[in-house]
Amino acid sequence: MRYSALTIVKEALTGHKGWKPVWREPEPKPDYDVIIIGGGGHGLATAYYLAREFGVTNVAVLEKGWIGSGNIGRNTTIIRSNYLLPGNEPFYEWSMKLWEGLEQDFNYNAMVSQRGILNLYHSDAQRDAYARRGNAMHMAGADAELLDRDGVRKMAPFLDFDNARFPVQGALLQKRGGSVRHDAVAWGYARGADSRGVDIIQNCEVTGFQIEDGVCKGVETTRGPIRAKKVAVCVAGSSGRVMAQAGMRLPIESHVLQAFVSEGLKPVIPGVITFGAGHFYVSQSDKGGLVFGGDIDGYNTYAQRGNLPTVEDVCEGGMAIMPMIGRARLLRMWGGVMDMSMDGSPFIDKTHIDGLYFNGGWCYGGFKAT
Ligand SMILES: Cc1cc2nc3c(=O)[nH]c(=O)nc-3n(C[C@H](O)[C@H](O)[C@H](O)COP(=O)(O)OP(=O)(O)OC[C@H]3O[C@@H](n4cnc5c(N)ncnc54)[C@H](O)[C@@H]3O)c2cc1C
Repeated sequence: MRYSALTIVKEALTGHKGWKPVWREPEPKPDYDVIIIGGGGHGLATAYYLAREFGVTNVAVLEKGWIGSGNIGRNTTIIRSNYLLPGNEPFYEWSMKLWEGLEQDFNYNAMVSQRGILNLYHSDAQRDAYARRGNAMHMAGADAELLDRDGVRKMAPFLDFDNARFPVQGALLQKRGGSVRHDAVAWGYARGADSRGVDIIQNCEVTGFQIEDGVCKGVETTRGPIRAKKVAVCVAGSSGRVMAQAGMRLPIESHVLQAFVSEGLKPVIPGVITFGAGHFYVSQSDKGGLVFGGDIDGYNTYAQRGNLPTVEDVCEGGMAIMPMIGRARLLRMWGGVMDMSMDGSPFIDKTHIDGLYFNGGWCYGGFKAT
């Protein structure tokens, strides 16, 4: 078994020998029952549940970089099931129930923290829309509470309630929403899948599909061809590029979304707060950093970095709703590539090519759905 680069770095930094890799680093076999392309949250969860629920373990997860290098390690870690539409709400509520038992299930500390999520409203029309959404959530068995201004003030007294443009009138609260340590989710799923026999193969980019008489029989990779009975594509922001190799053009655009973390502060923000009117949302990590974000950058790209005007725009949104954020210094920021579907809803489906499956179109909300 080869040691990963991470293991070598850890040994060099700490002087401790014998770090055990969390998963094996096997060489690819010539064929598998199932190949999953993409070692992000969805690819690893697919492998884990195939093994755990269905006993399908002759599976390889092929990742072009390292586990966690995509959006699973780049998101702002929010989980919630506060959706409106019948196609979405039951799905995300089921996901929420999986989060609630996840750490026991895969025996890994993923720091699932249900601290609540507040969606602020600023007008009667927005209040009515959130009341409707809360009712839809109740009908799917989710929790939802409509708070008035005083209810929000009790939870988040630091907000600018009398903001001239967007005075805070209240919020939709989902107490079971919150955050989860994102990369621990990848590591937990990877270890759980690996221990059941799944091969997790890093530094293995898929460069083409072997399609014979309309049937997908395997893939071409930077580490050679690999045959498979079934191939699942879970590559998030690279969906368009990878599915183009199978001759498919998707109704999905790739856009960059940035995230920001401030220096560590004492506990100040109780849960997650979203300010949709100003395109800003924020929570506080266990290390004390304010974790926040806003709009996508607004142009098509596959680059995992963003531009400065969006930084300014997001920070303006933060200043508008919680002016005290201006006292905190920005520590770091990064970008991830979003697979934006036209109506904001994802696909998990067969394709017209037998044996080829597609998962994507998660937009900026697919972490909670892993
Ligand atoms: C800044 C930011 C904030 C976000 N905040 C939230 C949030 O708070 N809550 C939420 O629910 N969602 C959030 N999201 C969205 C969420 O992160 C994504 O929807 C989700 O992670 C996508 O699924 P994934 O984890 O499988 O993707 P990824 O982790 O991106 O996995 C796809 C993998 O495929 C690999 N790949 C690509 N091409 C190939 C190839 N040819 N061969 C092999 N491998 C390949 C990539 O390297 C990558 O590792 C956010 C995203 C960003 C960028």
